[in-house]
Amino acid sequence: MITFDNVTKKYGNEQIAVNAINLEIKKGEFFVIIGPSGCGKTTLLKMINRLIHLTDGTIWINGKRISDYNIHELRWNIGYVLQQIALFPHMTIEENIAVVPEMKKWSKSQIQQRVRELLDMVGLEPDKYSQRKPKELSGGEQQRVGVVRALAADPEIILMDEPFSALDPISRAKLQDDLHELQRTIQKTIVFVSHDMQEALKLGDRICVMKDGEIVQIGTPHDIIQNPANDFVEEFIGVKEHAINTFHIQAIIEPIADEDNRKNLDATIASNDPLHTILEKLAHYECLGVEDSGKIIGVVTRASMLQYLANDSLGRGNVNG
Ligand code: ADP
Ligand code: MG
Repeated sequence: MITFDNVTKKYGNEQIAVNAINLEIKKGEFFVIIGPSGCGKTTLLKMINRLIHLTDGTIWINGKRISDYNIHELRWNIGYVLQQIALFPHMTIEENIAVVPEMKKWSKSQIQQRVRELLDMVGLEPDKYSQRKPKELSGGEQQRVGVVRALAADPEIILMDEPFSALDPISRAKLQDDLHELQRTIQKTIVFVSHDMQEALKLGDRICVMKDGEIVQIGTPHDIIQNPANDFVEEFIGVKEHAINTFHIQAIIEPIADEDNRKNLDATIASNDPLHTILEKLAHYECLGVEDSGKIIGVVTRASMLQYLANDSLGRGNVNG
């Protein structure tokens, strides 16, 4: 759906921010771009909606070059959420959300209905919030509005540039959970920039790790943890050593409901197997039985392992400091 074909961006004559990138983002995918500060993430993102011009190469959206789109049509069909909460301070929440639908000349009643629906979607009671001004909301609430504003006119693609990084850790975790949940229902193509590996592992269908304007690795969270392409990625994940030292099966084991399920288990591990053995097996199986003294005492799944590793890397994969 979004294709980068040999895309390069140079600022001035020297500074290469993005270097000959090839990339394909699929429809409905939650695609996370991650890497240290200055590696070219924002530049990559802003080229998609033509906020930044390409120096070389081509970007295609749905088989059409972005340069062939009418600029308004392109921008209106791509939602954009910024790191800084960027609501208009003098406008109400409803007016803020209505900006793009109004440009698209939706009817008043259609807009009102849409605003209510969107506020509901992110747990902000419409009667309570729609007529407030941004400063009457907490940072987390404002950023929720930022997210739904990007969704307002039902764009196919949403670009998000470190949207939660200005929030406190608790609001941030909550918004990540909500966005994860929201994506299940809306199924948009989301390109999400982050510098936080924990966030990337939690949200991404695929993760693209960048360094110095180039792609180092693209893969599912599982691929990246299982097979980091090089030392840079391994260090960036920052998860392995600590996870190995502190891992205990109790952190991820889940009970199995009934006897029948036991027979359907594809493979098993021992309850005292080391982490790398379990990771190795989870690369081949979605779900493993956990054996202790000849009995199956529970299961571990790929999902629960990823969750564990994501939580474990809290504050460790963050390289912006
Ligand atoms: P990131 O979002 O990963 O932190 P950016 O895409 O913002 O990285 O920047 C990539 C590189 O390009 C950095 O070295 C940055 O200093 C440089 N850069 C970004 N914007 C400009 C600009 N407008 N003019 C000159 N250099 C820029
Ligand atoms: Mg940036």
